[in-house]
Amino acid sequence: MRPEILFPLFRAVTALKGIGGRTSAHLARIGIVRVSDLLWHLPVGLVDRSYEPEIAMAENGSVATLTVFITGHSPSTPNSKKPYRVQATDNSGDLDLVFFKGQRDYLMEMLPPGTTRIVSGKVEWFNGRLQMSHPDYILAPDHRDRLPLIEPVYGLTAGLTSRSLGRAVDMVLADLPELPEWHDPDSLARQQWPAWGAALIRLHHPEDKGDLSIDSPSRTRLAYDELLANQLALALVRERMRRRKGQSVKGDGRLQARVRAVLPFPLTGAQERAIVDVIADMADPAAMLRLLQGDVGSGKTLVALFAMLAAVEAGGQAAILAPTEILARQHLESLKSYCEAAGVTIGLLTGRDKGKARERILADLAAGNIQILVGTHALFEHDVLFQNLLLAVIDEQHRFGVHQRLKLAGKGQGPVDMLVMTATPIPRTLALTAYGDMDVSKLDEKPPGRQPIDTRTVSAQRFEDVVAGVGRAVGQGQQVYWVCPLVEESETIDLAAATERKADLEQRLGLPVGLIHGRMKGPDKDAAMAAFAAGETRLLVATTVIEVGVNVPNATIMVIEHSERFGLAQLHQLRGRVGRGTGKSSCILIYSGPLGETSKARLAIMRETEDGFRIAEEDMRLRGAGELLGTQQSGLPEFRLADLAHHGDLLAMARDDARAVIEADPELKSPRGQALRVLLYLFERDAAIRYLQSG
Ligand code: ADP
Ligand code: MG
Repeated sequence: MRPEILFPLFRAVTALKGIGGRTSAHLARIGIVRVSDLLWHLPVGLVDRSYEPEIAMAENGSVATLTVFITGHSPSTPNSKKPYRVQATDNSGDLDLVFFKGQRDYLMEMLPPGTTRIVSGKVEWFNGRLQMSHPDYILAPDHRDRLPLIEPVYGLTAGLTSRSLGRAVDMVLADLPELPEWHDPDSLARQQWPAWGAALIRLHHPEDKGDLSIDSPSRTRLAYDELLANQLALALVRERMRRRKGQSVKGDGRLQARVRAVLPFPLTGAQERAIVDVIADMADPAAMLRLLQGDVGSGKTLVALFAMLAAVEAGGQAAILAPTEILARQHLESLKSYCEAAGVTIGLLTGRDKGKARERILADLAAGNIQILVGTHALFEHDVLFQNLLLAVIDEQHRFGVHQRLKLAGKGQGPVDMLVMTATPIPRTLALTAYGDMDVSKLDEKPPGRQPIDTRTVSAQRFEDVVAGVGRAVGQGQQVYWVCPLVEESETIDLAAATERKADLEQRLGLPVGLIHGRMKGPDKDAAMAAFAAGETRLLVATTVIEVGVNVPNATIMVIEHSERFGLAQLHQLRGRVGRGTGKSSCILIYSGPLGETSKARLAIMRETEDGFRIAEEDMRLRGAGELLGTQQSGLPEFRLADLAHHGDLLAMARDDARAVIEADPELKSPRGQALRVLLYLFERDAAIRYLQSG
């Protein structure tokens, strides 16, 4: 349970005085729902009001605070577009205060002629007179202390002013709970980091520009808090996995030998090395948690197969989990013949299996009649029970969260060995935040005979040429993927674009064109995919559902419209759909110009390299970590205070810190351990704490 001390921070913002439904709706649009969200919403700049020149000396365009004597009002006449002006002076010169749609009564009260006022705002010279439009502050001299000399500026959305946001933040800051210090006092002193509350106050009330820098002590401290919560949670889960006494899963190699005998090709060196790693982990009494990273087409499925065979040899079962129905079916297809050769029974369970069919599968599974199960999310259901699950393989791991991983791990009689696979090459720093200190095997070698993919960028103005080229290629017996624009917000628009493109291409080329998209029903998707795989349709228009894993070796051309809208990782994934057979493949990236520098650089990287890891690093460098992943790819944590492109060193430090904590105080019982629990709750990494209590 969340510690009581954090309750105030987890209230909805509407609990704050002066924040009602309207404001909270505006706030929600920039991701501020709870009180803590306000705290994480740091200023993006500041206004310095300490510049107090005489009127005559005021610098054009500056923000100035002026003490002036009000001399007169020139209200705007009705129907005139002229603004309302208030004249003021000091000994040095004249100032016009300008108000568009100014209300006379209000202005008379704020700026009575014959009085002295302090005004603060941006000033400009205009026809020899100094002007200030809509001053930010108008104060009587005895209210001078109400003028903030330095004022934070927040990232905003329509309907919110920086000042109203600042007021809300101040309410929270005024009542900040006093949280126990979770950092080691020595390192705190060494880094010269402020306490948590002091850091927040300093960031929301910066004293100078340096405070806003991403490397300021306050910002660094909060970023470190967040990273430490992340690393500690991962370390706890890992520790928990490790502590549940594993079992030694040792196959005798008999089934693996049978599959080797029928493999049409030798395994690559990288595959062999990965298999050795995995088999050794499984044989080890501790539970396995290994990440298999390999670019698209590097042959991860076979590594998984050998691991699963070892589990079956040891008298148990194995499951392989895929993020989509298409992928699950494809795994089944590619594994079936090998399993037959080995005399191993393989089954499939997806959300589409219902009623009697599903019951039969569940019964076979529970009885051990299915030895290897391929499945989708449907595997997580409570009534999916195995006779003796020894190994779980998770394909395209980034589509699943830690909790799902653990759910699957819980389906064994004893501890289940876990092999997670990903083809989304992610930069080292991100891998660390997503997986923590996992053991990693890399497939850094492609199966032989693959030819490089010829990648070209083509302006949309040359669309006709592309279509003609595709027509020629299809005429020569090649197969083509055609990926339609990604429109983030709306699946419906994606769909409309894809449907239209299909009709358009059919008409232009006089060929049957297949279509596959995310809204299609499962059987229709399979049918479209099967028709393409069988070569019945030679051209397949798709939205990004073909992104992961799909394998049609005869497809040699990938056309991507509006390629500038895709993330590089996604482009890389899509491109990986071709170049899987022996034929020469190409990828045509159509872009709609004019392109900015970053977009140009990004597409240039695609032309330059097929190394997914390099692409991922470059993408992160060009776009920053947050952009790179987007919100779609669940399973990867998002950070509010840390910026991975900047705080890579902090992350490594957090990893070491987390490791040391768990070693010294695995149950988080010491005073620092208790404080760290609060930290985990603060950043909602508390799922990890449950593993403490249940262990
Ligand atoms: P991914 O790593 O993207 O999941 P797959 O496991 O789907 O890759 O393998 C891609 C293709 O490469 C499959 O058609 C598979 O049969 C083939 N393949 C795998 N290993 C080898 C190998 N050692 N030599 C030749 N082809 C291989
Ligand atoms: Mg795969």
